[in-house]
Parts: sequence; structure tokens; C-alpha cells
Amino acid sequence: MAIQWFPGHMHSTKKAIVERLPDIDVVIELLDARLPGSSSNPLLAELTAGKPALKVLNKQDLADPELTTAWLAHFNALPGTRALALDASVAAPARALIAACRALAPLRGGMVKPLRVLICGIPNVGKSTLINTLVGQRATLTGDEPGITKLEQKIVLAPDFYLFDTPGMLWPRITVERSGYHLAASGGIGRNAYDEEEVALALLANVRVRHADRLRARYKLGDLDGLTDDELLAELGRKRGGLMAGGRVNLQKAAEIAINDFRTGAWGRITLESPDEFVQWWAQGQALEAERREKREKRSRGGK
Ligand code: GDP
Repeated sequence: MAIQWFPGHMHSTKKAIVERLPDIDVVIELLDARLPGSSSNPLLAELTAGKPALKVLNKQDLADPELTTAWLAHFNALPGTRALALDASVAAPARALIAACRALAPLRGGMVKPLRVLICGIPNVGKSTLINTLVGQRATLTGDEPGITKLEQKIVLAPDFYLFDTPGMLWPRITVERSGYHLAASGGIGRNAYDEEEVALALLANVRVRHADRLRARYKLGDLDGLTDDELLAELGRKRGGLMAGGRVNLQKAAEIAINDFRTGAWGRITLESPDEFVQWWAQGQALEAERREKREKRSRGGK
């Protein structure tokens, strides 16, 4: 596995969420619309089980619109869950967001029972951008909340609508290998935590199946069918000036170009996973985890 999984300040953020949760009516999880499954936090799902949930698919401007529709339908079919898609260019996302939260907690609202909403998401998913847009002119920020850890900020979006911010959070263990690659490709994991070449290869392997035509057009390539993923990466480097002295391809540079082109939307709007695919990967990941656990238990029993 090429991803070094260092979930950073997970423990303090988890503690802040657990402390705040009893007073929360709706939990918003901000997801990356290009990887809605992989950017969903299984730890958050565990902590907030049973709470009404709003899944916000952000960066929809970079995602495949058809797959965004499929993901919205997938989330909307879950009990107590609503979903909507946004991007940073939407000037007034507050109305849709507030309306969705109110629909999820119809018994809250008014000055006596203000709606209290927690917003969570992985690093770099666009939470600060969204909150800045939401805050605009209409909301006020308050720093200190007595008795509550200062990790969070309370944002008053309407007189009876409070939004509690949390720092970007990852989870303790990654069980779906592809999710690691997708998170790295999207920028959700820090640059030092993965091997760019491996991430670029996983990215190309994924995207060539969905959009070979776009890769061919972008890098002026012929038919991709005869190329392995490694050869495709090398071709990309050759076409994009990733050559070293002696004519060898600088694969590191080629990988950086591929990842950057994906991130900036140079390949067009791409989503790396459909709901059906992700459900399958998740089930496989869970089965592998169970196997691993069983082996570990057997070993520890045998050691006694
Ligand atoms: P945070 O770590 O979750 O607070 O993420 P930021 O708000 O700092 O955003 C991370 C990066 O994603 C920044 O470069 C933003 O400009 C960019 N970004 C945020 N939202 C969107 C969006 O909807 N579309 C696009 N294309 N970029 C976005």
C-alpha cells in the first residue's frame, strides 16, 4: 500500500464531535463529488449513527454530472439522509443548505429551539470555502463557547440556525485500498504521505476505463489499448516534457503532471467511483478486515 495513513488530529477532533453531538440536530458531511464514497468518513458514520444527515457533494464543477446524480439518489435513499451538490462558485448555497437541514429536523426551529447543525469533512474538501461563502454578510462568527473545546466555531446562519464547524478529519484505518488512491489524487491526503507514481498509475488505470478519449486528446496519444498503465504514464511524460538527459522519461514528473491535470479539471469533469462500484469495494474491504482480525485473534490465542 502506497499511502502512509496518518490521520493527524483525529483524536482531538473526534473528542470535540462526541462532546458536541448530544446537542446536534443534523450532521452535515461535506464530501468530494469526485469521490463521494472514498471521502465519506466511516468513523463519523459510526459516531453519528441515527442522527439526521445531510451529505453535501462539493466541487461538483469538477465531477461527472451523471455520476453526481447517481450519488445524490444513492444518499437520498438512505434513511434520515438528504444530499445536495454544490460548488464554490455557487454564490448563495445557504438557502438550499438551510432548507435541507430544516427538512431533516422539522421539529426544531424558532428562537426557543434553534436548529443546531454540525459540519464535518476531510481536509481540503472545501469546508472553509463553503463556510466563507455561507458567512458572507448574513452570519456572525463567534469564537468561544463556554465549556466546549475551542476546536469548533459557532456560526449563526439565521437567528434560529447555528452551524458548528469542526477541523478536517480522516479516520483511523483505511480499509478500501482504492479510497487511499482517490483521496491522494484529490488532495485529501498530504503530499508527503504517498508515492506520486503509484497514485498516478492508479488514477490512470481508473480514468482510462471511463474516459480514454479525453486522455488521448489531452496528450495527443493514439489508441491506448496496447499500452499498460506504466507505458501510458511514460507516454504522458514524453508528451509533456518529462524527459531527462538521454531521453529517458522522468516518471516522477509525469506522475505530478497527471495528478495535477486531474485536480485542475484538465481531463474534464471526472468522478472516480460510482455508488455501485464503491459499495462493492467497501464490502471487499470489510471482508478483508474481518479476515485480518480473525487471523490476529487466532495468533493471539495460539500464543497463550
Ligand atoms: P478545507 O480544508 O476543507 O477548508 O478546504 P478549502 O476550503 O481550503 O478548499 C481546498 C481547495 O479546494 C481550495 O483550493 C479551494 O479553492 C478548492 N475548492 C473548494 N471548493 C471548491 C469547489 O466547489 N470547486 C472547486 N473547483 N474547487 C473548490
